[in-house]
Amino acid sequence: MKLNRRAFMGTGVAVATLSAPMVHAASHGKPKVVVVGGGAGGATAARYIAKDSAGEIDVTLIEPSRSYYTCFFSNLYIGGFWEIENLAHSYGKLAADYGINVVHDWATGVDRDAKTVALAGGGSVPYDRLILSPGIDFVDGAVPGWDVSAQNAMPHAYKGGSQTELLKAQIMAMPEGGTYVMVAPPNPYRCPPGPYERISMVAHQLKANNPTAKIIIADPKESFSKQALFEEGWQKHYSGMVTRIGPDFGGGNVTVDPAAMTVDIDGEVVKADVVNVIPAQKAGLICEAAGLTDGNWAPVDGASMVSRMDENIHILGDATNQGDMPKSGYSANSQAKVAAMAVRGALTGSRVFPAKYSNTCWSLIATDDGVKVGAAYEPNEEKIASVSSFVSQTGEDEAMRKATYEESIGWYEGITTDMFG
Ligand SMILES: Cc1cc2nc3c(=O)[nH]c(=O)nc-3n(C[C@H](O)[C@H](O)[C@H](O)COP(=O)(O)OP(=O)(O)OC[C@H]3O[C@@H](n4cnc5c(N)ncnc54)[C@H](O)[C@@H]3O)c2cc1C
Repeated sequence: MKLNRRAFMGTGVAVATLSAPMVHAASHGKPKVVVVGGGAGGATAARYIAKDSAGEIDVTLIEPSRSYYTCFFSNLYIGGFWEIENLAHSYGKLAADYGINVVHDWATGVDRDAKTVALAGGGSVPYDRLILSPGIDFVDGAVPGWDVSAQNAMPHAYKGGSQTELLKAQIMAMPEGGTYVMVAPPNPYRCPPGPYERISMVAHQLKANNPTAKIIIADPKESFSKQALFEEGWQKHYSGMVTRIGPDFGGGNVTVDPAAMTVDIDGEVVKADVVNVIPAQKAGLICEAAGLTDGNWAPVDGASMVSRMDENIHILGDATNQGDMPKSGYSANSQAKVAAMAVRGALTGSRVFPAKYSNTCWSLIATDDGVKVGAAYEPNEEKIASVSSFVSQTGEDEAMRKATYEESIGWYEGITTDMFG
């Protein structure tokens, strides 16, 4: 029998079997779930809890932006394949169709004893279970010379929306034969193939509009996601345009001067027209404010995405330290469904199935030239572990690459509907 709260109360099951959340729910009205962050993890979790609990749980979603601009597929906008409007999604359906209380504000702190979330606009929101999915922030001082006050001169474009538009505008305004430099991040960071898909899309844009322009990547990593596929694609489509300086040649020893628009790569100073600085990353600041990080990231138990530091708080997506899953929208969405099921189970007694996760990261290299890498995952005591994986191969034919690209477009439609209804 499915043991939800209503069924339970009607059966006269012995009081000794009552779980604490049910007692709480019975004595204080509907249980309350607060979700901080309306992105890939948070929007999905809020929608699934509201949808599957059929009004038995009050869900509040705290998110400062009125429109969510996906980072996923933002490179296609930079490459000229999509318009900025294609990336924008509103929270209207979550409120209107799912009864979610959408609060447009910043969460500034969590009182874990009182179980309340403080808001920048004043006041606080109580919870029985809290879900945090705030995405990333940047590690202070990660690229000497750069901080967020320099993000207009040297955009990161690693959070969605205005930064993405700014970076594209700067690329479009580059002088003929100009230079674009990317300062790539160290591991772990949001979307492992993201910087290299971006390089492909910048090259695609420049090949059409500014074919003598140069692209330089200063990279602190020995290797990167789908490297053979990207390098094959750059050679095939953008021969001579892209130079990558890895750690052996000083790619990890970089300082920038935003006023002079220069990048010093291991003592060699490059004057650039566009500098895309993607700094080292850490969990969104609210995780730190709540005392839930262990270094830069928030450790979670992969069985339910519950924090290893607080049994009433689940943490999703990029902010987490969970094991083998990459920091991707697909991963955050997959983790959100596991957490939503666990939270409903704890608050209403609904059935909880063993956690299973999946991820695919698609990248577009050139028109109809799509590649992918992905895996299935299961939790063990220690971490979320990869149990099987796949990756596109070099030398694949055009039909296969086109099919992969089309599959990615279908995925985008699917995940954004799963997030926003
Ligand atoms: C260029 C690029 C390309 C990418 N391509 C892909 C791809 O093809 N496929 C893929 O799966 N992933 C891709 N990603 C990664 C993907 O965007 C992220 O992994 C995903 O968005 C993570 O979801 P999240 O819920 O952790 O964070 P987010 O989606 O960033 O959501 C976090 C939300 O929390 C809000 N927030 C933060 N702090 C607070 C606070 N204190 N109070 C209230 N709200 C707060 C923010 O406003 C934001 O809306 C890409 C990323 C980039 C940068």
